[in-house]
Parts: sequence; structure tokens; C-alpha cells
Amino acid sequence: MSRKPIIAANWKMHKGPAEAVEFIEEFDNLIGGSSLVDIVLAPTFVSLPAVRDALVNSELIQVASQNCHFEEKGAFTGEISIGMLQEIGVDYVIIGHSERRAIFGEDDRLINAKAKSLHAAGVKPIICIGETLEERDANQVENVLRRQLKEGLMELDGEKMFETVIAYEPVWAIGTGRTATPGQAQEAHAFTRKVIGEIFGEDISAKIRIQYGGSVKPANTAELMSQPDVDGALVGGASLDPGSFSEICKNSTV
Ligand code: PEP
Repeated sequence: MSRKPIIAANWKMHKGPAEAVEFIEEFDNLIGGSSLVDIVLAPTFVSLPAVRDALVNSELIQVASQNCHFEEKGAFTGEISIGMLQEIGVDYVIIGHSERRAIFGEDDRLINAKAKSLHAAGVKPIICIGETLEERDANQVENVLRRQLKEGLMELDGEKMFETVIAYEPVWAIGTGRTATPGQAQEAHAFTRKVIGEIFGEDISAKIRIQYGGSVKPANTAELMSQPDVDGALVGGASLDPGSFSEICKNSTV
């Protein structure tokens, strides 16, 4: 089953509008006019309009938000609705990132509510899952992933799952420089695909793309991407530099 790789840059709380546009100019030059992978940039909320404008003639690069609220509008100070993101032209929304779970207390129920609203609006979610080091050491990886998938994907529309992306991001590998081995990544991805098959059936599980995230850099991309169930990467630190992010995109076609 061939799945087109999807490489996404999660800029977290980096790059205001000016810096984001500078990145795109440099990155465009480095990547050239074509790519065999889907490329997604996830800037901060305030940089989304500038990024969208800078990409107006680009068929190569899509745009993601790093978060959204599940309600359409209301008294939710500091939040952004999916409709507002659609107005800017956002293609994807990252939900369930481990930083949102750990720092902002987001749980699987909230992530599920966001996923349902995104599906209803026709915006593609990138849903992050992954275990902590304590959970891995306690042999709980499969239990944690199963719970996050069962609860996070509860009652989602199967048809919309084809365009949904799952990002397996072991928490212990995020921003630590400690990457999962290709074998560890493959094992978790194969398990994730199996659970998705149990929930939505084989057709969807064969087609859904599963990204790996956690200290991806140019030097480890090809080996991770050569694993049969690794269909892309969600990249934090190494996506901030146009040179290293373009190398990651180029090294992703194996
Ligand atoms: C992330 O934040 O999604 C991530 C994977 O970060 P890093 O690449 O820096 O580990």
C-alpha cells in the first residue's frame, strides 16, 4: 500500500509573521518547484494569515493550525474557532499534542470533541498520540495508545478518517534529542494501524497516514521513513530552520 508521505513543521510558540514569511522565502528556494511529499507548516495563530498569503501561489505547501476550539463561537476567551481558521484557509489542525495534554490539561474527551468538530467542518485533523517514559518503562505503550485512539477517535465518521492523520509522538522523544529507534517507531505505528483497523476497518487502516514525531532531524529521517508503517514526520525543533526542514522533506522519499 503506497501512502504519500506527509511532513509537517510544528513551529510551536516561535516565529511571528515577519519571521514566518522569511522562512517561506528561503524554504521555497531550497525545496524547488516540486516535492514527492506533502508539506505542511503549522505556525502560531497570529502568523497564519501571513503564511497563507505568502503561499498563495504554492501548490506544494499546506497550512495547519496548532490548535482550535471545538465550539463554533461563544464566551471562550483566548480561543479560536474552526470557522475562523477556515476563513484564513487552514487545511489541517494539530490536536492532542503532548504539550497541550501535559501543560494545558487536555484529555482524550476534549481531543475527541475537537476531532468531531473538525470532521464536521471539513478540516483535516492531525491527531497526536504517544506514551510518556514512565508508561514505556512500565510496559504500558500499547494500553496507552489503545486508550488514546479509542477515546480520541470515538464516533468519528469513517469516511473522514481517510484524510485524518495520526502522529505517533512518544513524549520522551519530543524536544529531547532522543529519537525512537526505527524499530520502536515501526512497532508503535504497526500497533496504531492495527487498532485503527479494529475501529474503522481494514480499508481505512491501510490508507491512513501515521507520522512519527520526536527529535526528527535530517540525519535520522530516511531510516525512520524506511519503516513500512511510518508515513511522515511531525517536526518541532528541526523545522525552525529552512535548511534542516528542507533536508528532512528531501530525505523523506525512500
Ligand atoms: C513536536 O513538538 O511535535 C516535536 C516532535 O518536537 P521535536 O521535533 O522538537 O522533538
